[in-house]
Amino acid sequence: MVILQDYNLTELTEFLTSNYGVKPFVARQIFQWLNRSVDFDGMTNLSKTLREQLKTDCVAVASRIVQTLTSEQDGTQKFLFELFDGNVVEGVLMKYKYGNTLCVSSQVGCRMGCKFCASTLGGLVRNLSAGEILSQVTSVNALSNDRERYVTNIVLMGSGEPLDNFENVVKFLQLVTSKDGLNVSERNISLSTCGIVPRMRQLADMGCSLNLTLSLHNADNEQRKSIMPVTNAYSVEEAVGALRYYFNKTSRRVIVEYTLIDGVNDSHSHALKLASLLSGITVHVNVIALNPVKETGLKGTREANVKKFLNYLSALGVSATRRRTMGQDIEGACGQLRRRYLEQNG
Ligand code: SAH
Repeated sequence: MVILQDYNLTELTEFLTSNYGVKPFVARQIFQWLNRSVDFDGMTNLSKTLREQLKTDCVAVASRIVQTLTSEQDGTQKFLFELFDGNVVEGVLMKYKYGNTLCVSSQVGCRMGCKFCASTLGGLVRNLSAGEILSQVTSVNALSNDRERYVTNIVLMGSGEPLDNFENVVKFLQLVTSKDGLNVSERNISLSTCGIVPRMRQLADMGCSLNLTLSLHNADNEQRKSIMPVTNAYSVEEAVGALRYYFNKTSRRVIVEYTLIDGVNDSHSHALKLASLLSGITVHVNVIALNPVKETGLKGTREANVKKFLNYLSALGVSATRRRTMGQDIEGACGQLRRRYLEQNG
């Protein structure tokens, strides 16, 4: 099945003119519709025959929203997107004064095996194509009257490890930032990784201007191995080294994500190790308490101890803040909404 949202304007024009005899200006219109999440039925100036033909060979909009949960506290929304083959992935829309940030998924499932994360429990099902990642943005934009600008910021922080699906993620970045497309500034996009070092360096070498986040969660290699198996391949020194390399090459903001797990990574000695690992590098630490996932048995650090940990860091001169938690009433950690959906519908 050909996913039309996978193509940039040039590729789409080439595909439609050579296979269907579509005129280039019509291809451009189709491209614009795709960016506004309009499906074949809405492409009203195409002949019915062409639409039927395209429908049998191609997917236009690569995902549709099948479930929405809205927070009564702050309007944060969780979406479940269904892909053409029936797989589902999730996304979260957070509303701020300066704009709306959408957290998108890059894979169905994940193979990184982080012990605290719901997305990886069933392993990796498959990679998302560039168009499938893009379609999460276009589908959410389509909920608003402002079909191209509703989502102003994007974070690749949903299910999956974006740097384990490198080619498609890079293509997605090209599509979403394209002047012909949604024209989102790369500066408004953040990518979060568990630390696939060569790919982090590659992003730097490509001259990216996105914000890069490293999910660290423990500064000690042996301890980190027990919660994040990726540490067997790349040490914390290498991961932080790649973050520094990214910062030096791009001057973009780099962030360390630190999820506090009760009794696992939240003591004073953990703060000391973290401070020493990060010394000499311009980085901000985002601290968040673990969102408990029932299958893992791990608990989030209690409020009082989160504050203590932040105080330790501040005393050690580490720039750190607690990440504002939003949509707590609809909260389900990364991957949980999908798991619940699969349990009910699978
Ligand atoms: N694979 C990428 C991006 C997806 S996970 C990465 O590892 O960064 C997005 C963030 O949520 C990561 O920092 C991840 O460690 C964190 N996370 C996963 N499960 C969580 C949970 N149950 N509670 C809090 N944070 C969690």
